[in-house]
Amino acid sequence: MRKKSKRNFAAAVLLGVCLATLFVTAVFYNFFSREIMEELATCARLLEQTGALEQEQIEKTGLQFPQYRLTLIDNDGHVWYDNDVEVGGLDNHGNRPEVVKALQEGSGRSIRRSDTLDKSAFYYAVQLSDGSVLRVAKKASSIWKMYKSTLPVIALTAGIILVLCLAVFKKQQEDILKNAKMRQEFTANISHELKTPLTAISGYAELMELRMAAPEDVTRFAGEIHRSAARLLRMINDIIRLSELDAMEPDQVAFSPVPLWQLAQNCVEMLKISAQKHRVTLTLKGSPCWMQGSREMAEEILYNLCDNAIRYNREGGSVTVTVKPVEDKVMLCVEDTGIGIAKEHQTRVFERFYRVDKSRSKETGGTGLGLAIVKHMAAQQGAELMLESEKGQGTQITILFQNMEKSGMIEENEKREV
Ligand code: ADP
Repeated sequence: MRKKSKRNFAAAVLLGVCLATLFVTAVFYNFFSREIMEELATCARLLEQTGALEQEQIEKTGLQFPQYRLTLIDNDGHVWYDNDVEVGGLDNHGNRPEVVKALQEGSGRSIRRSDTLDKSAFYYAVQLSDGSVLRVAKKASSIWKMYKSTLPVIALTAGIILVLCLAVFKKQQEDILKNAKMRQEFTANISHELKTPLTAISGYAELMELRMAAPEDVTRFAGEIHRSAARLLRMINDIIRLSELDAMEPDQVAFSPVPLWQLAQNCVEMLKISAQKHRVTLTLKGSPCWMQGSREMAEEILYNLCDNAIRYNREGGSVTVTVKPVEDKVMLCVEDTGIGIAKEHQTRVFERFYRVDKSRSKETGGTGLGLAIVKHMAAQQGAELMLESEKGQGTQITILFQNMEKSGMIEENEKREV
């Protein structure tokens, strides 16, 4: 199937190049023919105006124009002079298209195939004041010769275009296959991830329904059902978020000035209780600054990064959120003194459902989708994302957003915010 579409694509490219070249050559040849006809017309006019066509003059010296064939024809078609061939051997020229036209309308032109395929004969005929006709002719390259001479160029161009197009085609095919594989894996993972809490809910509910749960276990079972349902809900929300992001074109993101410092303050405030619960100190550093992007996405990124930094921390550890302008960007850095991520997991943690420590993630309410959402959102906003981490030491995730000040709207927005 892939081979067939590749062949069709190559054939389409070749056909396109050939048709384009044929068209361009035909246009060029048309222009070339008109130029030759103009030249022949000028020659005829010159001969007529200089009196070189006087019969006595011609009989004495002939017409000295070796680059043109000059023929003088009576108005009945009889040829009485030709500077190239013996007139005795020539038949009546009264039926030649250019002569017919010249006798009817004053001038006529025509192009005929010459003795060889490579040459064409160009004829221009004009009726003189005495009623006879002067015909000027010249041989030049035929359109076939032009096609023949452009053939190596066509072949080379077609070859180059074909190679380039096939490379693009191959890349597209690979991307399509990669995306299809990723989607397949994602669907399989979703089914698996949803099944676990649903099985727990169904199991505990069944035990209670069949009155198989001891009265002292009922509250615990209800708690398990509640936790599993909450997990399901979080997961479904994250899946919906990701599929929305997947369906979004990069230019669909509504960019606006975002008060990143203020959002970080709100986030730190919101996660204060969670940090206290995990016995982690949460601090915000830096200075007020604005970025260019989506407010909603920036809020979600902040929440996901800070939440992870708290959840994957240790008792007595700390999380430092820094927001400040750095060169022409706005930096958001979330640094923790937690469990860290070993080198081999560092790129994979951004994959959907990838977790280093599955049980810790589930215990703390993780869905395995947080960092995938962060990566996607950073890319949608044209931001740069970096991760530095050392196992057992801590993790630092930095995002460089586009700076608002560049757009010159900061003062206006700061005023509005105050
Ligand atoms: P989860 O919902 O499991 O936290 P994420 O996509 O947010 O999913 O993160 C993926 C995995 O990356 C986590 O399961 C965890 O193993 C690891 N991880 C994320 N953030 C941190 C961090 N700050 N410190 C250590 N490990 C982390």
